[in-house]
Amino acid sequence: MPDGSQFSPYVDPDDAEGAAVVILRLIGRHLARINHPFTLSSSFGLDLRCGRVPGLVACLDTRRRRATLRGGRDETDTRWHWDLAHELGHYVADVLGWPRPHDESMIDALAGRLWIRRGAVMQAVGTVGWNAMALVRYFGTAPAAVVFRRVAEEARGVAIGRDGFGRRFAFAPEGWPVPSHPTRWERHHLRIAMAGGVEPFLKRGGEVSPFEDPATETRGAVILYPAEPEFLRG
Ligand SMILES: [Zn+2]
Repeated sequence: MPDGSQFSPYVDPDDAEGAAVVILRLIGRHLARINHPFTLSSSFGLDLRCGRVPGLVACLDTRRRRATLRGGRDETDTRWHWDLAHELGHYVADVLGWPRPHDESMIDALAGRLWIRRGAVMQAVGTVGWNAMALVRYFGTAPAAVVFRRVAEEARGVAIGRDGFGRRFAFAPEGWPVPSHPTRWERHHLRIAMAGGVEPFLKRGGEVSPFEDPATETRGAVILYPAEPEFLRG
């Protein structure tokens, strides 16, 4: 992997998609729909190990090309796949010469775009529709919140919910306002979903639904609907 000096003029640190495309092209994976973190780390020639990193979930030694992740039993432990994806985001940002410290939310955006490409999102939504649980299952080991983020970004939808750790997420197409704090409407519907209820959004074509997140072995709830249903229905 060459260093990033030849790319940094072309990919600014606000352009997660541009960064993802440049890096994936470099390793010949820009046409792949899914780039699992294990695939990426081996393409980057990184040495992966499970271990203890005092005070940290994961750490990446870019110079020695080594990533150490805490808590993973082994590669079958899906709970740390996202930690690895996030660290790969930092790695790519370093390769591109983004200034440190990195913006953590941009690293998350980059990691999601490296893992799940637009083609995979469009195929998933085309296959299973705006069904939250089916979308999560479609992507298997990608955490549910990452799946909803990519669906919102690429298929142009709104995804507001709680992941299995109780953390709120709110994703929408660029330029769409999403409330920065939970509204009464949001709390009301998510409470119903957390109790196990599924409410279809008949006009919108989406739903409010609980979901099981196989990647984190937890349960959450989401309000998920396409932003422009008429357009999507052709
Ligand atoms: Zn980070």
